[in-house]
Amino acid sequence: MNRPAFAPADPFRITQVSRHWPACRNFRDLQESWLPEHRHEDGFALWWLEQPVASAVFIAPVVFGDLYLKEFISDDVPFAPKGPLPIHAGAFYDGWPNTPVWSEISPKLPWHPGSEGILIEYDGGSVVVLEQGPDPVYHEPTVIWHCAVCHDRDQMGAVNDGPDARMAMAMDALEHLRRGHDPLSPLLQHQVAIAARGPGADGTDLIGRACRTNGPCADIARLRAAH
Ligand SMILES: [Zn+2]
Ligand SMILES: [Zn+2]
Repeated sequence: MNRPAFAPADPFRITQVSRHWPACRNFRDLQESWLPEHRHEDGFALWWLEQPVASAVFIAPVVFGDLYLKEFISDDVPFAPKGPLPIHAGAFYDGWPNTPVWSEISPKLPWHPGSEGILIEYDGGSVVVLEQGPDPVYHEPTVIWHCAVCHDRDQMGAVNDGPDARMAMAMDALEHLRRGHDPLSPLLQHQVAIAARGPGADGTDLIGRACRTNGPCADIARLRAAH
């Protein structure tokens, strides 16, 4: 997948620091994810790094993870960096490892505490990627994108179980922009024509108004106001 590049210079947060020794379950399989020069046979530490729609890991010998946790540990999870990463001792990888053994143990947290908030806005705020609480289909936190020009996009989201889900949704939003806005599909035109029947009714605006009153646009306005 085409990933937004993770920029270590931009603010990031550390979702977790995990340590892995030869005695750990699947240690050999976990090591497979790293270039030979980044493997540490006596154990390694992994910093799980995130930005709203990007992710990376930083890998270093396990002793540096222990030192970091001792010096910079915080009760907040996830926590913003409390000190410099031991850059000289390790390496960055773009994206979180996603082999089956890693998927089992990677953090599954939403970006916002409570899983409600705006992740990123494109096109001057007309297209927004946002996190939502449990939805009626998945009963789990979800991530969706919404277009305030078209309104009528399918609002099926994805289970918000990590940065890959959020990045996939952001890519979908960008794809929408790349294709260009398409406010009224033929099916919707038909529905609007029925809804708007009446003197002077503007079918297009009916949809926008409904969305701004009680749809994703209303949620987005609420989240912006709360920020
Ligand atoms: Zn809308
Ligand atoms: Zn649109």
